[in-house]
Amino acid sequence: MSNLATVLDVSAGRFGEREFLVAGARRLTFAEVSRRSAAMARRLVDSGVAPGDKVALSCPNVPEFTIAYWAVLRAGGVVVPLNVLLRAREIAYHLDDSDAVAYLVHEDPADPRLAETAREGFAKAAECDRFWTIGVDEAGETTWCGEPLAGPASFGTVAREDGDTAVILYTSGTTGRPKGAELTHRNLLLNARAAASVYELDPARPDTHLLVAPLFHSLGQTCVQNASTLFGCTIVMVPRFDAVEALRLMLDEHVTIFAGVPTMFWALLQALDDLPGRDRLYGRLRVAASGGSALPVELHKEFETRFGTSILEGYGLSETSPMASHTRLGEPVRAGSIGRPVDGVEMKLIAEDWTTLPDDPEVVGEIAIRGHNVMKGYYKRPEATADAVRDGWFRTGDLARKDSDGFYHIVGRSKDLIIRGGYNVYPREIEEVFMEHPAVSLVAVIGVPHPSHGQEIKAVVVPAEGHEALRPEDLVDWGRRQLAAYKYPRIVELRDELPMTSTGKILKREIS
Ligand code: AMP
Repeated sequence: MSNLATVLDVSAGRFGEREFLVAGARRLTFAEVSRRSAAMARRLVDSGVAPGDKVALSCPNVPEFTIAYWAVLRAGGVVVPLNVLLRAREIAYHLDDSDAVAYLVHEDPADPRLAETAREGFAKAAECDRFWTIGVDEAGETTWCGEPLAGPASFGTVAREDGDTAVILYTSGTTGRPKGAELTHRNLLLNARAAASVYELDPARPDTHLLVAPLFHSLGQTCVQNASTLFGCTIVMVPRFDAVEALRLMLDEHVTIFAGVPTMFWALLQALDDLPGRDRLYGRLRVAASGGSALPVELHKEFETRFGTSILEGYGLSETSPMASHTRLGEPVRAGSIGRPVDGVEMKLIAEDWTTLPDDPEVVGEIAIRGHNVMKGYYKRPEATADAVRDGWFRTGDLARKDSDGFYHIVGRSKDLIIRGGYNVYPREIEEVFMEHPAVSLVAVIGVPHPSHGQEIKAVVVPAEGHEALRPEDLVDWGRRQLAAYKYPRIVELRDELPMTSTGKILKREIS
């Protein structure tokens, strides 16, 4: 039985009064979160949500996200979590595309923008006809359309099959409009178990996660929220990532696990010097896990030196629930590697025409993934699904090498591959070299059109603090000394910042 919807109920039975969600002054136990989610499931069913109905959810990282997520699943519905930064017309697109019958929106009187934009988006949607707000009142009770959800609730779980869709996660991919990846109960339950195994969670030794990755994204949802629900961990929620606040919470809440994207690790390092009592953080994290984009080797080393914890690196996509591969605790550190496939998952390298490439550490190919975690398909897009999934293998668009021990090393996305004068140049390699320069804080390497070479290599660099006098020609020179002639960037541009996605990844598409 792999029904995700029963997880919270079962955990409430096991962990009852153990602390589950912490957000500012709010502290909710497993029993309390389960009670609220049951009460909300009852409202959903009484308001006409039927098994298989899609219910969209716009909510930041606050307890109501988790309560609503489990409520929709318990009611037999499909959760469609939306990025909280979407504009009204984008919201309307997601509501229409997912066939959402209802829309649950977090309303915060102190910051009404999300609810206002959601209302505007809802008004533009063609079919979705139910709009409900959720929030919290002064007594700390979860509200539904402004009224407390209080009162004991008995509610089981509306039966669903393991292969039924539980969540539709929208992913922008690299081209076209956002597509909904349909993830089943089985996909998500087994992947949360895989994440728990990588983090070595143990209900008898409960961990405390600092949740900084947004819950609308798969990293926060599967690897933190769902794995913690299953294994009785406490989640300390941060509505918006702020490095100073994150460090303070790590100390005050005795955080043992931090999972984030590389830019968050970078921001933690920048903020560490100003933290009173920072020595007490040294060696405190049991697990530091990075995913979502490439973790530069220099950043990895510096974090390990200053925090006393090595970073594990994971790899995956919304389409793969997300976790596909990970480095493990107790393994010799292999900076720059995304590890080996997690339990129940296979990976291989393929060519453009889907043929499997030979096991050879020199060969670069596209990662293909097969296993419990691969989505059912893109919602209502059979062609896009057929392009992406063949014989159970999902092609990722990410290029990698596999070393002789079976560890994968990402070299870049196939779309980001630069071809200069007929040579393939992988941005990751150049970015790693630039990150070693003491005056470089962040870098993105891209290809720009060139009349004779086809493409020229360009590095866009954010200088480190105190290195404002850095000159582009110094960096061109640095590259020339470390890299083959066809690889070093002739163009270097300095900027104050790089565009980022709301999940903290560098948005290469927007850099030119
Ligand atoms: P998303 O669907 O938003 O989770 O994005 C998935 C994409 O993030 C993958 O296709 C990769 O390009 C990138 N990604 C995820 N993890 C890593 C990693 N550890 N190293 C490099 N890229 C990664």
